[in-house]
Amino acid sequence: MELELNEILTKQNFTKQELVYLLSLEGVDMQKLLDKALEVKLRYLDNNVHLRGLIEYSNKCRKNCLYCGLRKNISAVNRYELSEEEVLECAKIAIKLHYGSIALQSGERQDENFIEKIEYLIKKIKEISDNKLGITLSLGEQNEDTYRRWFLAGAHRYLLRIETTNEELFYKIHPRDLSHSFQTRKDCIDALLNIGYQTGTGVMIGLPFQTVEDLAEDLLYFKRKEIAMVGMGPFIPHPDTPLYKFKDIIPPNEKRMAMTMKMIAVLRLMMPEINMVSATANQTIDEFGREKAILSGANVIMPNISPKQSRKEYLIYPDKDTVKDSGEWCSNSLDNRMSSINHKVLYDEWGDSVAFTKRQIKR
Ligand code: SAH
Ligand code: SF4
Repeated sequence: MELELNEILTKQNFTKQELVYLLSLEGVDMQKLLDKALEVKLRYLDNNVHLRGLIEYSNKCRKNCLYCGLRKNISAVNRYELSEEEVLECAKIAIKLHYGSIALQSGERQDENFIEKIEYLIKKIKEISDNKLGITLSLGEQNEDTYRRWFLAGAHRYLLRIETTNEELFYKIHPRDLSHSFQTRKDCIDALLNIGYQTGTGVMIGLPFQTVEDLAEDLLYFKRKEIAMVGMGPFIPHPDTPLYKFKDIIPPNEKRMAMTMKMIAVLRLMMPEINMVSATANQTIDEFGREKAILSGANVIMPNISPKQSRKEYLIYPDKDTVKDSGEWCSNSLDNRMSSINHKVLYDEWGDSVAFTKRQIKR
């Protein structure tokens, strides 16, 4: 078995069976996988960590995903939307802190007011930063025309997690209605790829009813789609959501963290040059979750630069640390935390996916 593992770890293409085997590793064997992934990352991408300053634009959402604390049916949520001034203030913080990029995230809305305001804000952020800030969007499902408008306005990356590639599981974690369609989700990702966004997707790990086979299929999907960026992190049950009732049948925190690390590591072997985010959820379930994901092969961190007062209203999952990421203190602490694991935070750079850039050059 030992020899078998060492041999498998030298590959880039895996069968589903091999993926299931790798994702099931424990103890020293699991550590071998993580070490190999780190080695591959350092060889292809060096020890650089890219930043995206996260701006939580609004917690208003038209959807009812069964796992999310922003779902429409939770009436206790105090709904907000940042003003133009507030968003630009966040962008200025990013510029001041020398973050090369921001990520604008929000609950899902498809009305024209929203679409126009985002389009305007993208242009404005480009203008005030002298085109220096890269812009990632994470604004849910939209039609192709909207995606294109935002792309033309200057956004160049888009994150839309598929959440799971198992259709049956998809409908266990989403209501089965017109607003939550697996096909639409897949079509949106295809539209983003078509338009030319650096497209990111990802899944939640440790969902109720999710199997290792499901996770293996998720990895194969990322590879098949030649995805440029991936953000995956542990599922965290939110007490006000329907999925909370399954909290005792999902794997415990350490297991969900370990599975997240294995998913990142295996994907790093499969796609050495993509960007991979160390999700904020890692930090929520493990004090060193951010570092652990980086050491397993992730290379992007998204420090929160949203206004303090709105952060407590943007609780996708509970216990999200709303204090840690703030201003200069955060930058210093990030530098220190990353250098303590021999990594280096890069400033004033977009930090595009190397995999994506190389494909563009080839075309
Ligand atoms: N509305 C947009 C962006 C905000 S949600 C969208 O849905 O794409 C961003 C991500 O948060 C989702 O893709 C989902 O994977 C994650 N998320 C939501 N609820 C979660 C939970 N309870 N635990 C872990 N991640 C969660
Ligand atoms: Fe809305 Fe996104 Fe939460 Fe679904 S995951 S309820 S779309 S914010």
